[in-house]
Amino acid sequence: PGDDSTCGSDNVKVYVRVRPLDTRGESGDGGPAAKACLTCPPGGGRRTVLLADASRSEPYTATFDQVFGPEEGQQQVFEAVGAQLVENCMAGINSSLFVYGQTGAGKTHTITGEVERGPEDGAVCEDTGLTLRIFRQLFDRITEDEHDGVRFTVKCYNCEVYGEEVTDLLAPGASGLQIRDGDQHQGIYVEGLSEHVVVNADDVMQLIQRGSANRHTAATRMNERSSRSHSVFTAVVEAHEEQGESGVTHVQFAKMNLIDLAGSERVGKSGATGDRLTEAKGINKSLTTLGRVVSALTERQQHVPYRDSRLTFLLKESLGGNAKTSIVACVSPSEDSAQETHSTLVFAAGAKRI
Ligand code: ADP
Ligand code: MG
Repeated sequence: PGDDSTCGSDNVKVYVRVRPLDTRGESGDGGPAAKACLTCPPGGGRRTVLLADASRSEPYTATFDQVFGPEEGQQQVFEAVGAQLVENCMAGINSSLFVYGQTGAGKTHTITGEVERGPEDGAVCEDTGLTLRIFRQLFDRITEDEHDGVRFTVKCYNCEVYGEEVTDLLAPGASGLQIRDGDQHQGIYVEGLSEHVVVNADDVMQLIQRGSANRHTAATRMNERSSRSHSVFTAVVEAHEEQGESGVTHVQFAKMNLIDLAGSERVGKSGATGDRLTEAKGINKSLTTLGRVVSALTERQQHVPYRDSRLTFLLKESLGGNAKTSIVACVSPSEDSAQETHSTLVFAAGAKRI
């Protein structure tokens, strides 16, 4: 037996979510003639995908921790992917969730979705994504666990990495922020990023709405509302415990990052030129570095190039080490997207080997 128990493979979970086939072409993909080329073969135990498009002589298949089909809704993804992050927060374990994939594949739908109150006040709107569901459950768990001397505080932050610039999404105007490597508790943090103490899910809902509205969006040929930036929503959960008569306070910290990555598509396909092209290059730098970090981790290289991009430096503690990482690779089943779907699956399959 080797040292597999310490290789951390348990710390990285990789999921694939297949969006519905877009027969109206609203995502810039598909349209009335759209044909699906991605399937979950029977017998694959909902873990395998098979990509068989015209350009491929042999189908490409890969296996993940779980594959969500087009019919699977937000609650199912939450139960399989999000609920664990809540338990990590309660246990003082750092965790991160990334959504990866080409523009229009369902990243923002998965992580944010529709952020509104349901028809009944306080009810979860069916299309609400992972973030709000995670916080609803987190506050339920906090209510259960708060007793005698134990109290929790939850602080939220939301920044955007646009090109190589870090901007506060909750305090407009604060851009060009620096990333610092702090002490043991702080870990890596963005200097001067505004902090928001939240006491219930409604507080979080307002932050998500504010952050999304401030997020850079730029029109590209593929998706008018395509987002060209990475958004990092962070929560720090602190448990304070009064210990015995001495009154000593014991504090437990957990950090949770929810990351909506920029589209992983190649520049050429989105028709980017001029400023948009420069922008796309910046995005590629962060995503390319993310790919190199993942390779270095899977190959157990001594040097992992975290510092080569802002995004990977910020997420250093979320990749490798003791942190728990979940990646949801979002893909379209459409034949038009076969090439991008293939590169997304290759990236995700690589991350599965960490
Ligand atoms: P991305 O953030 O990856 O660019 P979006 O999340 O904005 O993509 O998705 C593009 C469009 O497709 C949106 O209108 C979104 O609501 C829809 N969509 C994506 N995934 C799903 C899904 N699993 N179920 C229903 N609609 C989806
Ligand atoms: Mg998006």
